[in-house]
Amino acid sequence: MPELPEVETVRRGLQPALEGQKLKSVIVRRPNLRIPFPKDFAARLTGKKITRLDRRAKYLLMFMETGDVAIIHLGMSGFMTVLEGPIPEPGKHDHVDFCTTKGAVVRFNDARRFGLMTLTTEDKLESHKLIKNIGPDPTGNSFNEEVLAAALAGRATPIKAALLDQKNIAGLGNIYVSESLFRSGISPRRLAKTVKGARAEKLTRAIREVLADAIAAGGSSLKDHVQPDGELGYFQHHFKVYGKEGEDCPECASAKIKKIVQSGRSTFYCSNCQR
Ligand SMILES: [Zn+2]
Repeated sequence: MPELPEVETVRRGLQPALEGQKLKSVIVRRPNLRIPFPKDFAARLTGKKITRLDRRAKYLLMFMETGDVAIIHLGMSGFMTVLEGPIPEPGKHDHVDFCTTKGAVVRFNDARRFGLMTLTTEDKLESHKLIKNIGPDPTGNSFNEEVLAAALAGRATPIKAALLDQKNIAGLGNIYVSESLFRSGISPRRLAKTVKGARAEKLTRAIREVLADAIAAGGSSLKDHVQPDGELGYFQHHFKVYGKEGEDCPECASAKIKKIVQSGRSTFYCSNCQR
């Protein structure tokens, strides 16, 4: 499942093909993904220029010159590729093509159809139901230890669960929560409300570093990640604890990485290093 760094890499990969370009046509091959496409989805985008491709948490936002904004989510298995030159026939799961007047085609493929595409307008974006409850973006300039501590204040839930809650912090998925807690030496079981001051500062730094490393590892070109079968291979990062149950802790080497399940999701941590 694409997490925030993967979505950011997709955004960066699509930017050169889409930003400042006019859409010659938009081909939608089915009535719905996770939710129905708006009936006028293609019509409102066709012939219009894309001014900016942005991101909020794991939503891609395509800002149009008209004030319309297309909201795109990759869901569990969705990916977008830039096609140039002779455009191959669409496959079974190629649901949408965005064709620019320059001849590039951005193709959306989603085998499981948990992705979505919808439309809003710039003035209604902040109050849109998909966007309005999203917390601060941990890669953004407005994210700092005060913002994090304020989001966690008074919460009597484990820090692991609090960090996964999109209302507290946007787009931080299961893998990156485990890694951030490890880097900051905070136990995933610690109550969220006790993460403040120096701890909040450490955690903020760890979250930023973990995400920046992952985005950097994502590379600069989407093409690098498309395997011959057309699958987008989301990056294999070098995780320190995620998926490392039973291995020696890379920090202290005197304890083994443990795996526990919290709110139905796996957590990997070192009980020696993380308090
Ligand atoms: Zn350790």
